[in-house]
Amino acid sequence: MTNNVKAKRIKKSEFAGVGMWYQLIGLLFCCTIVGAIIGIPLMLIGAKKAIVYKCSNCMNKIEKEAKVCPVCRANIQ
Ligand SMILES: [Zn+2]
Repeated sequence: MTNNVKAKRIKKSEFAGVGMWYQLIGLLFCCTIVGAIIGIPLMLIGAKKAIVYKCSNCMNKIEKEAKVCPVCRANIQ
C-alpha cells in the first residue's frame, strides 16, 4: 500500500532526551580544569544528540535520512 501524503522533515532541538544528559554530565565535568577536557566534547555530543527530526504529518520522530515516515508512510520531502 502506497501513501501519497507528503510531509516535511522538521528539525527540532529536544532537551528532554539523551542529549540533555550528555550536556549535563559535560557541564559537571567542566567544574574542574581536567574535567573540561572530557566535559566540553560531551557537551558538544549532547548538543548534536538533542537535535531530532520529526514528520510534519504525524509528528513522530524519524531518521535524519528517512525518505518515508515509518509511522504514517508519508513521503518526506
Ligand atoms: Zn509521519
